[in-house]
Amino acid sequence: MKPEIHPKYYKTKAICACGAAYDIGSTKEKIHVDICSNCHPLFTGKQKLLDIEGRVQKFKKKYAGVTPKAKKPVKKSAKGGSASGGKKLPAKKAPK
Ligand SMILES: [Zn+2]
Repeated sequence: MKPEIHPKYYKTKAICACGAAYDIGSTKEKIHVDICSNCHPLFTGKQKLLDIEGRVQKFKKKYAGVTPKAKKPVKKSAKGGSASGGKKLPAKKAPK
């Protein structure tokens, strides 16, 4: 290797949020990851909710008293006839 052009290479550990640690080689001294093959749903086969920074709690708190409403029919605007989505509607507008 050519001297003084390569970054320092560390024998370090990649530490996951689940607690698993992996011995790896890297140019970074410390590596912390949120997810690894030990805890990722793809490898564990379990559903897991990734709650980073309490987003799920925040959502539940925000919509605690809200119940989903029945779907309202979409009002067609008077302007622009292309909003009908290709369906033929009966002409209600009186011609000028
Ligand atoms: Zn993990």
